[in-house]
Amino acid sequence: VCELLLSDKEYVGFATLPNQVHRKSVKKGFDFTLMVAGESGLGKSTLVNSLFLTDLYKDRKLLNAEERITQTVEITKHTVDIEEKGVKLKLTIVDTPGFGDAVNNTECWKSVADYIDQQFEQYFRDESGLNRKNIQDNRVHCCLYFISPFGHGLRPLDVEFMKALHEKVNIVPVLAKADTLTPTEVKRKKIKIREEIEQYGIKIYQFPDCDSDEDEDFKQQDQELKDCIPFAVIGSNTVVEAKGKRVRGRLYPWGIVEVENPAHCDFVKLRNMLVRTHMQDLKDVTRETHYENYRAHCIQSMTRMVVKERNRKYALLIPPAEAALAHFITLESHITSTSVFGLMSQTTSLPLHCADLPANCTAQR
Ligand code: GDP
Repeated sequence: VCELLLSDKEYVGFATLPNQVHRKSVKKGFDFTLMVAGESGLGKSTLVNSLFLTDLYKDRKLLNAEERITQTVEITKHTVDIEEKGVKLKLTIVDTPGFGDAVNNTECWKSVADYIDQQFEQYFRDESGLNRKNIQDNRVHCCLYFISPFGHGLRPLDVEFMKALHEKVNIVPVLAKADTLTPTEVKRKKIKIREEIEQYGIKIYQFPDCDSDEDEDFKQQDQELKDCIPFAVIGSNTVVEAKGKRVRGRLYPWGIVEVENPAHCDFVKLRNMLVRTHMQDLKDVTRETHYENYRAHCIQSMTRMVVKERNRKYALLIPPAEAALAHFITLESHITSTSVFGLMSQTTSLPLHCADLPANCTAQR
């Protein structure tokens, strides 16, 4: 009895904190924004439908060859609410139809980069505004980049796209339509693509390192996942019968390729990574690295603008020598002691708009 009382006394109750967090998060629901990019026809829509078992592209309009010659990249957004065992997920898929379709694809990554920046900008505005309670987060958490299985490794457009976006979004490269390659070809292509990613200095999404106290099985799974890049995927919207079982697959005259068979492709590994193991990390990296970089650049640019404006005003009022001194004093006192928003409110002629800043606040990850 004595021991029981003692242990009761020692138990304050903060051990229930994880449960409290869990309950609150489940009540609030989760959201995730996934972007798919790559040339059209590489199986992006089919894969997304296979991944989330939905039909997200019911009203898609496919363009003919002539229309595609001058096509510009469009950004489309589809949102679905899915629920599993009482856990709600608002899933947004951002597609980039038209990417790589035109005859001249120079800078066709630009509208994709602009879209990502716009979402950061919107979040930055909302976060700096008065009502921060119900901010809608449209930041892109992950970009599945589809690499053609028919080329010899990366194409110039792939390199250009990934280099332009790797500091804005978590890029996960996938080798599309893996059923068109033999297992040896898949292996060779993966090695080549990994080498090229390294060679061109492309920073794709890095899986976090395992904790040293994780069990061996987990460590092995983690290593397998890292060695899998780029995920060789197969998509299918049809269910076929294989060995008496109904499975999602592709039926060929010589047999069936099963989407969810790990011996046929990395579809399950990709889905597990995206949904079961790394969704939260993808969101954390977006918030802590990509958005943070964008925000820091915005604030720097705003500060520079304010100081410049102030100096211009001083220069109009006082002779050059005093203006230089005043400039120095302004810089010292304001940059060290006031927040940028304080500065903005003092300089009434400047609007508090990120849109007025240089559009591409590229950042160091
Ligand atoms: P998107 O334009 O990138 O969205 O490509 P779609 O998903 O519309 O697919 C284009 C064509 O490729 C369709 O005929 C699909 O049936 C086919 N397809 C999609 N995924 C695969 C795949 O994994 N392997 C093969 N062989 N064909 C695929």
